[in-house]
Amino acid sequence: MDAGVLVFADLSSGELDDAGRGILAEGQRLASTLGAPWGAACFAGAPDEAYEAFKPYEVPQILELQSDRSDGSDASAGFDLSDYPLAQAEALAAAAHVAGAKVVLLAHTDLGSLLAPALAARLQGALFTEAVSYSREWAGLTLRRQGLGARVVEQQIWRDPPAAAVPLVLTMSPRALSSVVLSGTRPGEAVRTACSAPLQTSGCGARVTSRVPPDPQTVDVSEAEVIFCAGKGCDRETFDALCEVAKLVGGSVGVTRPVYDQGFAGFERMIGQTGKTVVPRFYLGLGISGSMHHVGGIKDSKRIVTLNIDAKAPMFPNSDEGFVADAGQVLPRLLERVRERARIKGAA
Ligand SMILES: Cc1cc2nc3c(=O)[nH]c(=O)nc-3n(C[C@H](O)[C@H](O)[C@H](O)COP(=O)(O)OP(=O)(O)OC[C@H]3O[C@@H](n4cnc5c(N)ncnc54)[C@H](O)[C@@H]3O)c2cc1C
Repeated sequence: MDAGVLVFADLSSGELDDAGRGILAEGQRLASTLGAPWGAACFAGAPDEAYEAFKPYEVPQILELQSDRSDGSDASAGFDLSDYPLAQAEALAAAAHVAGAKVVLLAHTDLGSLLAPALAARLQGALFTEAVSYSREWAGLTLRRQGLGARVVEQQIWRDPPAAAVPLVLTMSPRALSSVVLSGTRPGEAVRTACSAPLQTSGCGARVTSRVPPDPQTVDVSEAEVIFCAGKGCDRETFDALCEVAKLVGGSVGVTRPVYDQGFAGFERMIGQTGKTVVPRFYLGLGISGSMHHVGGIKDSKRIVTLNIDAKAPMFPNSDEGFVADAGQVLPRLLERVRERARIKGAA
């Protein structure tokens, strides 16, 4: 296999998720930008149906990575590659060698951010993490990422990609990924090839014993998936109702400057220019006028829904969906509905 670009697709959940689809599409684009062949690598064990999702990206070849125990112990003892991140990095490095990869591309997810540095160390390669964009220029591949809460853009150049002696391990920020395929792509079946790496559990470092999802109540609001944000149009009672709704549906609470100033929430919950930049899948703003200082911090959210009593509030043009209503009336009714659903779910 000759893959100038090797894309790691995570199938640990048994299917290709949004980040997986996004990174495959990005691999296709990067290979086209570099004029290089490409392929994908994933850990073996996913059901055959998971590979259906690769078809739209015209992936020429998929390397299925598996452990090949070389410590003399019984393989049936249950060595599970997914428990050992360093073993995963080892297997991925072996795949990069097999593929002759010049660039290994990963989504900057929890797993991708864990694997990338270990992989770069094993390949003795260059590492660039959380890229938001790249372009091919005369000097090489220009890579960009955001810094200081998205206030600055850092730029680095990986020189002469086709001839580079040092491979590049590149992670892309999930928020910069789009699963849209290149035009002209014809969906097709990829050739799947098994790829084994000799592994020894003794050299695998830390072992994952359990995975605990982040608590939406305490997770950093900049990493929250669902945000309920309160503006000055929410009084204390409405704000408390909003917090309970967020808790019951597994969302996180955010606030605007005036709500922080009133002491309803800590500074770490404030969203906007002075506060945090957020990129949730869903953002619901209640009683928020839509000043540029706040909107600047939410504009990359996937879906923005607004509720405001004033139909002319600037927040509406910045939203995907809007409701003209009184938050003080809507919140108690919403809370009732959510409590009822939670009761039904609890009883089931
Ligand atoms: C340098 C600088 C940095 C700043 N940084 C930030 C920042 O990081 N984050 C931030 O949020 N702000 C920031 N601000 C403040 C910002 O300019 C705005 O003042 C602030 O965002 C306004 O918050 P708000 O929308 O909650 O309040 P308001 O602008 O007062 O809007 C309240 C809204 O609630 C609506 N409303 C009232 N009653 C109801 C009701 N019963 N039901 C529904 N809607 C109702 C009103 O129609 C109105 O649109 C910054 C300001 C400066 C100068």
